[in-house]
Amino acid sequence: MTLPRGVERHAFGGETSLATQGQPVYGERTDGDWRRWDPHRSKLGAMLEQGMDTGLDGGETVLYLGAAAGTTVSHVADFGGPTYAVEFAPRPVRELLDAAESRQNLFPLLKDARKPGSYAHVVEPVDVVVQDVATRGQARVAALNKRFLGDDGRLLAAIKARSEDVTADPDAVFDNVREELSAEYELLETARLDPYHEDHLGIVARPRE
Ligand code: SAM
Repeated sequence: MTLPRGVERHAFGGETSLATQGQPVYGERTDGDWRRWDPHRSKLGAMLEQGMDTGLDGGETVLYLGAAAGTTVSHVADFGGPTYAVEFAPRPVRELLDAAESRQNLFPLLKDARKPGSYAHVVEPVDVVVQDVATRGQARVAALNKRFLGDDGRLLAAIKARSEDVTADPDAVFDNVREELSAEYELLETARLDPYHEDHLGIVARPRE
């Protein structure tokens, strides 16, 4: 597995885990500056843990959709460049602001990822869009935010089957999402994120011209 610069496997007591350097955010284990990146709490962490080729080198400019209280996006900001964190629920954004306090490169935005025009004046073109919105219409959210990616950009998305249809077979949901996404993106790799996240699909994709 190739890890981005700034992400390492680190020993926490007897357990070795992915880790980044920064202030702790969600009660994760720490060792000096190192903080455990828990793949059970983070879909992007699970994608790295599963060995998916995310193309991340470290230092990228990132647009993160569905930042919640900052669990994953804080790790991203630890190894990334400027990191724009979009979240539309006011409650988690308060905690996200706390995570941003010690991270000069993390910019929380209380915005709706289905309305990219509302943050287009703030967000510069980015190298990577990370998406974890767990809402109906996840392929559409990715399509709407393609405008921020250059030709060499990457989409790293986690698709939650139950957010699209609670009753449908997850594999059927993933087939539909893959098909819809393929209109706007070339899919480079997809993989189920079990056992870390049940009925979630990780996707690495690049924008079609
Ligand atoms: N990515 C987070 C992490 O790993 O720390 C967890 C994200 S949680 C599964 C999904 C989040 O997406 C929720 O906080 C929810 O409020 C947010 N969300 C859902 N739809 C959204 C939208 N249209 N715009 C912005 N945020 C959205």
